[in-house]
Amino acid sequence: MVKLDTIISLAKRRGFVFQSSEIYGGLNGCWDFGPLGVEMLRNLKDLWWKSMTYRDDIEGVDASILMHPRTWEASGHIAQFSDPMIDNKTSKARFRADNLIEEFIVRLRNKKKDNLADEIEAKLSQAKEPSDYYNIIIQYEIPDPVSGTKDWTEVRNFNLMFKTFIGPVEDNGSVVYLRPESAQGIFVNFNTVLQTTRQKIPFGIAQIGKAFRNEINTKNFLFRTREFEQMEMQYFVKPGNEFEWYEYWKEQRFSWYLQLGIKQENLKFKDHDKLAHYANKAVDIEFKFPWGWGEIEGIHSRTDFDLRNHQEFSGKKMEYVDSVNNERYIPYVVETSGGVTRSFMAFLCDSYDEEDVIGENGKTEKRTVLHLNSKLAPISVAVFPLVNRDGMPELAEKIYKDLHKNFRAQFDSSGAIGRRYRRQDEIGTPFCITIDSQTLEDGSVTIRNRDSMLQDRVSESNIKNYLDERLA
Ligand code: ATP
Repeated sequence: MVKLDTIISLAKRRGFVFQSSEIYGGLNGCWDFGPLGVEMLRNLKDLWWKSMTYRDDIEGVDASILMHPRTWEASGHIAQFSDPMIDNKTSKARFRADNLIEEFIVRLRNKKKDNLADEIEAKLSQAKEPSDYYNIIIQYEIPDPVSGTKDWTEVRNFNLMFKTFIGPVEDNGSVVYLRPESAQGIFVNFNTVLQTTRQKIPFGIAQIGKAFRNEINTKNFLFRTREFEQMEMQYFVKPGNEFEWYEYWKEQRFSWYLQLGIKQENLKFKDHDKLAHYANKAVDIEFKFPWGWGEIEGIHSRTDFDLRNHQEFSGKKMEYVDSVNNERYIPYVVETSGGVTRSFMAFLCDSYDEEDVIGENGKTEKRTVLHLNSKLAPISVAVFPLVNRDGMPELAEKIYKDLHKNFRAQFDSSGAIGRRYRRQDEIGTPFCITIDSQTLEDGSVTIRNRDSMLQDRVSESNIKNYLDERLA
């Protein structure tokens, strides 16, 4: 598996991802998507949107990020959306207590101390209160990875929601939160969507949008950030039918990643050890990142917890009326909750490869290539004149301008042709078109495939069809 630093450096060098406000030294937990990154991110979101909403039973919404503060009382976020936090008194380093313990377990396993690791893991899976985490840290004398000391404060809960004020007066009555998940924007719109569409249960509501969490420790590039994007869908079902739909969505979401090219061996399910109080079943889809397995999406059967609480807190009925069977009930919800930015990183890591190839001079050389699904690739096609004379650049530019109307295309006339191929391989461009002396004679071009590196000769008038067929 590729090293994380290699991905970060490629992402920066080629304009996929930059540090946020880099000229000021960056802002921890925030990243900017550059010219290539934004294209790939949009492709990813488009693919999700099409697969989730281009069907009869799912509607889309785009709810505001700032919501009525009662939303977060009803959802339980004000009372419970917190992580256990601990400080080391010597190094002043701050940790999520559960992560500190998890990392200690990994170190034990690396040292083949599996029995002890199992014992601590079992305790961690039962831990709920701050004191549970504290007791584990003290009992097993877990040291601070920074200073090596065991000089710990108590563990306390830290709420992850970002607070701000709405309107000109900064008082308690004007506190609002940046949403920590997009899901609540869907729940509060359950009635409005139902009233304005002809949906019948089962049906879903989908949304893509930013979410914010004041994570205690940000780490691993885009994996744990303070500002990120989610793609979520809440599927409303009749109580009692939730497990059938849970299995359905589990399978659908897993195969979505596979269809887009994630290798089977890098993807797995992990059932939740501890169920959240509102869930009656939950599983994560995990990807094998350079540092190990990590969640990219959760599928959760959330019962009627959210709608019931919003009904209670708002005083508005959140029921579904089934006029055919003469029933009314608060629907149960099965949700698919994925991270756009985390998946973006999974696709980068999964598609990265370094291969030995024979260069133009007959010698073996390395090529770095992103074997991205062509629908995800930021650039679909690049156009090159073989040499910068004999009318080739002009013809290449004309072909490029034509293609640009329909495809995300790039023109490149600088350097040896092999170098130009390498530049495109590194950003995952699936097709490169070269205009050569034969083009001047018979109008045909070569189209080179990124993965096989084989070339087809195609007449100029056929280029669009050729690409349409392969990019569709
Ligand atoms: P974790 O256990 O890693 O903190 P979570 O279980 O809290 O994640 P959910 O609340 O289920 O995550 O959020 C759904 C998805 O949103 C996750 O699968 C992940 O892809 C994404 N996500 C959550 N938190 C972050 C974050 N801080 N940075 C980037 N993506 C995130």
